[in-house]
Amino acid sequence: MKYLGIIGGMSWQSTAVYYRLLNEGIQQRLGGQHSASLLLASVDFEYIAELQHQDRWDELADYLTQQAQTLERSGCDAVLIATNTMHKVAPEIQAGLSIPILDLIEWVGEKLSDNQSQSVLLLGTRFTMASDFYRQRLEKQGLRIVVPSGDEQEIVHSVIFEELVQGQFTERSKQAYLQIINRCIEQEAIDSVILGCTEIPLLIPPQEVPVFAVDTTALHAEKALDWMLS
Ligand code: GLU
Repeated sequence: MKYLGIIGGMSWQSTAVYYRLLNEGIQQRLGGQHSASLLLASVDFEYIAELQHQDRWDELADYLTQQAQTLERSGCDAVLIATNTMHKVAPEIQAGLSIPILDLIEWVGEKLSDNQSQSVLLLGTRFTMASDFYRQRLEKQGLRIVVPSGDEQEIVHSVIFEELVQGQFTERSKQAYLQIINRCIEQEAIDSVILGCTEIPLLIPPQEVPVFAVDTTALHAEKALDWMLS
């Protein structure tokens, strides 16, 4: 099995899910006493969130590059960045490494094209919904990417930072998200939703979304498992 490096803690709520899914997957696929061979560099999310909200992406890129280089020096064969948002600086991190980054956005694109999706709602942090790094890559493969309205983005973003990353999962916020999804089904004719923040599937399981939904945490873990055993 290959040795996986994970940059986690963004937030630890979803890193715990990655850890469980990777170990369950290795156990299922290899049986016996097998478990995932990995090294976790877990950061303090308060620091990350502060830099994100101050738009200090260059410093974030430098900081996560240091984490990734530590994983590489420790013998990891690849790095998984366990968050959608921080793929914003994945190209800068990759430039400082000689091992690959297991790219979540590419796999999201593949999943949507396997499903023959056409019109897709992207939910995530404001950084993911409002900047180009995520949507442009998907648009290049011919998908129509819809993001929530400004007010709706504010709701989605603040629930992530004020509740989900702090381990609070309420019915009220789940209904608020579902209302946004349903509006986009009715008014934007979306056929799919990207749960493009690794904590969102903890609030709304993909099977409770009325259209095809990509659980980015589960997808990233599953593809990492394929890579670990390839
Ligand atoms: N885990 C979230 C994501 O997948 C948000 C945390 C962050 O801002 O990195 O985007």
